[in-house]
Amino acid sequence: MPRPIRVRFDTAALAHNLEVARRRAPHAKVWAVIKANAYGHGLLRAADALRAAGGFALLDLNEAARLREAGFAHPVLLLEGIFEPRDLDLVEAMHLTPVLHSAEQIAILEAAAPKRPIDVYLKCNSGMNRLGFTGAAMIAAHARLKSLKQVKSITLMTHFADADGPSGVSSQLAAFDAATAGLAGARSLANSAATMRYPETHGDWVRPGIMLYGASPFPDESAASLGLMPAMTLSSELIAVQALKAGEGVGYGYLYRAERDMRVGVVACGYADGYARHAAGGTAAGTPILVDGVRTRTVGRVAMDMMYVDLTPVPRAGVGSQVTLWGDGLSADEVALASGTVSYELFCALAARVPVEE
Ligand SMILES: *Cc1c(COP(=O)(O)O)cnc(C)c1O
Repeated sequence: MPRPIRVRFDTAALAHNLEVARRRAPHAKVWAVIKANAYGHGLLRAADALRAAGGFALLDLNEAARLREAGFAHPVLLLEGIFEPRDLDLVEAMHLTPVLHSAEQIAILEAAAPKRPIDVYLKCNSGMNRLGFTGAAMIAAHARLKSLKQVKSITLMTHFADADGPSGVSSQLAAFDAATAGLAGARSLANSAATMRYPETHGDWVRPGIMLYGASPFPDESAASLGLMPAMTLSSELIAVQALKAGEGVGYGYLYRAERDMRVGVVACGYADGYARHAAGGTAAGTPILVDGVRTRTVGRVAMDMMYVDLTPVPRAGVGSQVTLWGDGLSADEVALASGTVSYELFCALAARVPVEE
């Protein structure tokens, strides 16, 4: 028998979550962001479930090639654009839309001679200070691109640093509007958080990622309350049960010591499967986890292949009991919060060794 850990992907949930994004931004087209192997959900599986999107956004030319080879004819947006001159040959051959965020990238385009002009996105740095042109440099970059016969259309874009947090979007939106005032072209600004919370950012194309996978972009609003459905469920089973006496420790470093006599289950899942090693296991609250559908907590330090659960609320649980690490019935956002991270990182960390339940 294979090790009992497995992951299930709910493609209907992906399609449903895309519909939530479309309803929130009814006047915009949607780039479904499927970078990083669709946030761990499988590139082609996600693209197939999200084929109602206007296009797909990702970073990696190899991922773009896999989409094209699988027959997807959608527009494909390269979020980091091109890295060297020969990337432009692939952009042309595969009809991709590169983001141009630097003078170096524009110089590459200027020196190239594509047979057909290409659609580009011009990125404005409106305050996040990651990629793009600021203020006057944006206007100059736009003028330079407009004069190039290599360019078919220019869409103006930016990205928010804190659409999910207390700063919101207002100062970046003002900076973007100022830097692009009077420039022709479609606009694309909104990630999931801005798509859900700030209609004034919708523009012509929104770029939701995390919400498509059924997790909330907000620390203060749950995925369920946003109408999102989890698309990834990570499950396993108990492979052993230990009876601890009060004061006894469990696992590496005895991170957890029993407050009283208790039963502890050993789960076939560890950090080599993608579970966070930093999940709280030494605190009273632990990290939430389901055993036979009952909510309990993790205890002790997550090991490479195993971790531990408090069986006090599930006295009937034993070897073979079903465990849900996150997904159906337990939001990945809650698990992430107790692990000092975000659901994005949990999803992306899902290990290739975890078998996919079809
Ligand atoms: C990743 C990314 C997105 C999607 O962000 P979410 O928070 O997952 O919705 C949108 N735009 C850009 C430029 C990105 O890098």
